Amino acid sequence: MAATEREEGTERKPITKAEILPPIINLKPLNFFFDVNRAMSIWPITFGLACCAIEMMSVSMARFDIARFGAEVFRPSARQADLMMVTGTVSKKMAPALVRLYEQMPAPKYVMACGNCAISGGPFKFENQYGIVEGVDNLVPVDVYVPGCPPRPEAILEGVFAIQEKILGIRFWPRPEEIPSPLAEPKKPKAAPDKAESAKA
Ligand code: SF4
Repeated sequence: MAATEREEGTERKPITKAEILPPIINLKPLNFFFDVNRAMSIWPITFGLACCAIEMMSVSMARFDIARFGAEVFRPSARQADLMMVTGTVSKKMAPALVRLYEQMPAPKYVMACGNCAISGGPFKFENQYGIVEGVDNLVPVDVYVPGCPPRPEAILEGVFAIQEKILGIRFWPRPEEIPSPLAEPKKPKAAPDKAESAKA
């Protein structure tokens, strides 16, 4: 009984937001400068698990060219990476390795669940299955979910933009709906005002 009381007495309470003290010196412009640098030079870890990894590879190739957005430096070591794209099926056998890699990444670090397998188990989620982790968020905290089986490379790029937006609080790139379609009909030039009518007025 005494031991139980001691355990209850030493139980750690989660820190609330109100308890976190503000920094002594708050250099907002400097912090923003660092955040811009962080957002524009995301280093993903070279880590693929299944078919979705092919999409991750294609995103780094010339056609989709993730280098345009500063995230082309795929690192072979978790210690040098700040983004983990979980691309593929996470088996229970692989789960400890994934968690270890995540823990080796220095903070601040971000996780993107790419594809339905990483999000929820995808097509391998069925009753009585015993080999697949049904969502990588059961193992590590996920910042962005990119659905698809597999997701298109453009969708993975959108995921990178969402991470950048999370770091900075602003979005640098236009949203797809803001980009004019090349198939849209060209706008007709406005007709010049009728001279006779303008003279009457
Ligand atoms: S989501 Fe589809 S494409 Fe991606 S790893 Fe799973 S089965 Fe393969």
